[in-house]
Amino acid sequence: MNLLIMGPPGAGKGTQAEGMVKEMAITHISTGDMFRAAIAEGTEMGMKAKEYMDKGALVPDEVVIGLVKDRLQQDDCKKGFLLDGFPRTVEQAVALDETLKDLGIKLDGVVNVEVPLDKLMARLTGRRVCRGCGASYHVIFNPPAEEGKCNSCQGELYQRDDDNEKSVGTRLNAYMDKTQPLIDYYNEKGVLKPINGDQDIDKVLTDILDTFK
Ligand SMILES: [Zn+2]
Repeated sequence: MNLLIMGPPGAGKGTQAEGMVKEMAITHISTGDMFRAAIAEGTEMGMKAKEYMDKGALVPDEVVIGLVKDRLQQDDCKKGFLLDGFPRTVEQAVALDETLKDLGIKLDGVVNVEVPLDKLMARLTGRRVCRGCGASYHVIFNPPAEEGKCNSCQGELYQRDDDNEKSVGTRLNAYMDKTQPLIDYYNEKGVLKPINGDQDIDKVLTDILDTFK
């Protein structure tokens, strides 16, 4: 099974990707890991990518797609793979389609983990950090024993600036604006598999696995 996974910040995409590669016995290709490995191995594409990264510049699409192409040809991808973090734009998706065609690989589906905006907001603004020891809590998923107080040092818990509604809203809107055309693209191709991410994480994984049975 050759798959791709997408999802907004806070949708639990990382957790689902982990579950999928384990249960489906496929190879996880996250762009971050792919970059690090190619640079460490000193491949031609890895060295190109490093040039841009050293300058603090964005790595151009042709280099990223080159890295993906190299990666997809490695032995561990023969059993199937899950692409995670790529493509991010329609241009990249078109380039990926061409690459897959070149390699004779068929994309079986694109998992899109969907969570309503207000739920994402609640998840992403729920983090609280201890002023005393830096311990991290979450008002929904990992609340302290006593509200506003750290379990281990009794320090005051606060919300970081980048966790407030305004920052999170900006981040989510930027994601939606950028990603909607990509979702439309895969939907038109008939490979998009919307998954309800607004339920227990084990149920989300079960739904994903059922989709590809
Ligand atoms: Zn503390």
